[in-house]
Amino acid sequence: MAFRDDVFKQAGGRCQCIMKACSDHTGRCNAMLRGDWEIHRTTAGEAYTLSSVKAMCQTCHVKLEKELILEYDPECNKRVG
Ligand SMILES: [Zn+2]
Ligand SMILES: [Zn+2]
Repeated sequence: MAFRDDVFKQAGGRCQCIMKACSDHTGRCNAMLRGDWEIHRTTAGEAYTLSSVKAMCQTCHVKLEKELILEYDPECNKRVG
């Protein structure tokens, strides 16, 4: 089972973004994850485990990069499956 699939399952197939900077959602985003959704590590430098990553939709992840609210780590975007 690929890690990416595990993250998808943990997220229930929906974006786990809870950034306040996202004006298009309050609380959790819950957008359907499909296509190029992203695996974001909540703590940079930490190992990729299910408890240390969040699944994010493209919309939120683009904001994340722009706003730099959470530390952006290019490692997150490596295809792992
Ligand atoms: Zn989202
Ligand atoms: Zn968001």
